[in-house]
Amino acid sequence: MGPKTRLAGCLGEGPEGDQMFESDRASVLDVGFEPLAVVGGGYVGLVTATCLADAGRQVTVVEVDPRKRETIARGETPIYEPGLAEMLREAVSSGSLRVEADLVAALAGNRLVVLAVGTPPLPDGHADLSALEAVSAVIAEHALPGTVVVVKSTVPPGTGRRLQRRLAPRGIQVVSCPEFLREGSAIEDVLHADRFVVGGTDASAVSRTVSTLNAFDSPVLRTSNTAAELIKYGSNAFLAMKISFINEISNLCDLVDADVQEVALGMGLDRRIGQASMRPGLGFGGSCFPKDVAALEHTARREGFSFWMLRAATEVNEQQRTRFVQKIRDAVGNRLETRRIALLGLAFKPGTDDLRQAPSLTIAGRLLELGAHVVAHDPVAMDEARRLLPGVEFVDDPYAAVRGADVVALVTEWPEYQTLDWSRVAALVRQRVIVDGRNCLDPEALNARGFNYHGMGRPSRTVQWGRRVSDERSADAEYVA
Ligand code: NAD
Repeated sequence: MGPKTRLAGCLGEGPEGDQMFESDRASVLDVGFEPLAVVGGGYVGLVTATCLADAGRQVTVVEVDPRKRETIARGETPIYEPGLAEMLREAVSSGSLRVEADLVAALAGNRLVVLAVGTPPLPDGHADLSALEAVSAVIAEHALPGTVVVVKSTVPPGTGRRLQRRLAPRGIQVVSCPEFLREGSAIEDVLHADRFVVGGTDASAVSRTVSTLNAFDSPVLRTSNTAAELIKYGSNAFLAMKISFINEISNLCDLVDADVQEVALGMGLDRRIGQASMRPGLGFGGSCFPKDVAALEHTARREGFSFWMLRAATEVNEQQRTRFVQKIRDAVGNRLETRRIALLGLAFKPGTDDLRQAPSLTIAGRLLELGAHVVAHDPVAMDEARRLLPGVEFVDDPYAAVRGADVVALVTEWPEYQTLDWSRVAALVRQRVIVDGRNCLDPEALNARGFNYHGMGRPSRTVQWGRRVSDERSADAEYVA
């Protein structure tokens, strides 16, 4: 092994049995990097393009949505992602990132083409590949021979191989290069990825991909196209199962009066288990886990077997939201008509404005059905939420949300909610009841301010029935129940 190859170590065997990193690293250093087009300027495409532009690549983003295009062209970001705005502004103003509508023009100027279009779920769980198919059809017709198509979109196992069969006669190679970034920490995840998985059969196409796209020197794992695709689905499905597993433990904790926070910590100290994804709460949401679990289950079913663990993970996940609503009902004597519920947080997790499959949507919808008046706040996701939840009242600050509330229901663990002035909240609410869907608040501190605290899988901490919640309150002062 020469000095170049020793730089990066070796993660396994390549598809041809060669030690995977050795040839890649040597080629990387030989090939250098080339300009690229990124098709799809959404969460994955825009973050990838911006990070690569920042690392000195010349990137053309191809985006069909004219509003997104105009926003990006101004150097502004159409999505909320910490750190992205500054990096994108710099990339656009320096000319290293440009955006355009015309895929054919982009194909004329770039022989490395990254696909980052959406693959949303169809009603039967299968991934909707229509955007990918539409782009591939244009590539088949217009891309120059020697073009490498890098599939970053999450696609069912076998998609890359099928695409390869279609494009190979035109001298185009397909490389499967799944993306593992998480919204809310997307830039960090790209800069410090655990691994750069690259699946393909053509050594030169794989080398060109690694050379240009693995700009931050993540450990490279070379595989077949299909293995790369399955690594992505398998990883998301495994993490989703882990979340559902700890949620089931939390449900058991509710029954046996143990604190799941202690249980999760103790379990996670076992290095084989680890602390990641061991946070009980409202379950997984967002654009990836729910759809990827469904798509993997669909793939398994198509191959003739039932992947029971995936079905269980999904069912547990859906139940968590129902359990949360039931906790809210239990906390105020079951009936929600005329009750005012303050929802703190709408995004599916902190650090993003993404509402796709967010627990808040199901929860708010169910509360409205039960007759509650729902007042909601989120630091960044309210524009989209207004469109999706027409029956909800939206307010611009969390203190306005809790004013007159019978229950404060914490749905997204934004840091600003954890540092609220709870004495001020105590003076604003109608009843001091908190249902903490993310176990991110301090029950002791809240009890000390007269709140009844209900977490997920934590013993309820109720202050004594009959104690007045606020001496300085007027005649309609409530009793803590
Ligand atoms: P997204 O919906 O945010 O972005 C997709 C973009 O593609 C949109 O802006 C859309 O307008 C554009 N588009 C659609 N058709 C197009 C076409 N023909 N030409 C040009 N642009 C087109 O989706 P996303 O969240 O970025 O996800 C993209 C893929 O990456 C999906 O397969 C997803 O599963 C996967 N992924 C997402 C994440 C995540 O956290 N969002 C993480 C890892 C992988």
